[in-house]
Amino acid sequence: MNIKSMTLPELQEALKAMGQPAFRAKQVYTWLHKGVRSYDEMTNLSKELRAKLQEAYPFYTPQVIRKQESAKDGTIKYLWRLSDGNCVETVLMRYHYGNTVCISTEVGCRMGCAFCASTIGGLVRRLEPHEMVDEVLFTQIDSGLPVSRVVLMGIGEPLDNFDNVMRFLELIGSKDGMNLGMRHISLSTCGLVPKIDELAEKKLQISLAISLHGPNDAIRDRVMPVNKAYPIDVLLAACRRYYEATSRRIHFEYAMIDGVNDREQDAKELLRRLKGLPAHFNLIPLNHVEESPLKPSSRTAVARFQKILEDGGITATVRRTLGSDIDASCGQLRRKYTKNQG
Ligand code: SAH
Repeated sequence: MNIKSMTLPELQEALKAMGQPAFRAKQVYTWLHKGVRSYDEMTNLSKELRAKLQEAYPFYTPQVIRKQESAKDGTIKYLWRLSDGNCVETVLMRYHYGNTVCISTEVGCRMGCAFCASTIGGLVRRLEPHEMVDEVLFTQIDSGLPVSRVVLMGIGEPLDNFDNVMRFLELIGSKDGMNLGMRHISLSTCGLVPKIDELAEKKLQISLAISLHGPNDAIRDRVMPVNKAYPIDVLLAACRRYYEATSRRIHFEYAMIDGVNDREQDAKELLRRLKGLPAHFNLIPLNHVEESPLKPSSRTAVARFQKILEDGGITATVRRTLGSDIDASCGQLRRKYTKNQG
């Protein structure tokens, strides 16, 4: 296993096997999670130990391939090169309550949503825990901006990479690591029901976001193939169980697509289906993806939809489209880059 994917107890074991005392592991762990680029920066270790570690556990630091900064709102988007040459995107968004990093969890995605750029080339591979840690760490280091929130809403389906994502959360939440509170983390899924139940059992205090994008099976089936495996009522039942287990209100993401899911009747149907479930809606005007015929809803359609939800007792915010001048949504930068390479 990569040394940065190890938890502190695992690292203690590994160093013990090298004849090192327990406190060494904590020193190494702290350095790794501060974002050093080599063992030579670990100045409180002997030269000999640094060399031994380099031999036993070489580690790689992701390289910036592209960095784009929005002139409008300061959003910064990174395209990173991973150790095997694959690349992923990370976005840093600046909100009044603090800086938020949106990370990728996979290289590509196999969920096949019709509107999403990340899934066009399918799934290449899943990210390892340390690669997700590095996204947060090096975005913070390169930008010089402190990060207080992390959202798992970049490229990939986090619940399709469940074990690695759980380990990543443990690492960034650890007190000798980045020490990020679970309440400051959101995980977004297209609706893998068995994994939502597994997550609920862990009773983490993270926020769960569900990409709903439609009020019924007919509409969800059109844009999200996952709905064929886990239809909307099955998904919403899992959301209710998640709420019962964690007492955390569910966030629903809803990309507004012109003429597809933005009609009055769609909003009303949502109200009926979600009855009794504490929910918050993020309405996101669709970001147009070159390869897709789907178009964003008009401002008036979005406002009308929001009002119907709110009048029905569900809070709904229209998400500001940050970084629209830098293709800062889901997979578009990686898509362009890999297309130009190919
Ligand atoms: N796989 C996870 C997380 C990644 S996508 C999920 O499906 O939730 C993060 C969010 O962006 C999801 O809600 C996704 O549906 C949405 N999204 C993807 N492409 C989009 C587009 N072109 N316009 C608006 N939202 C989009």
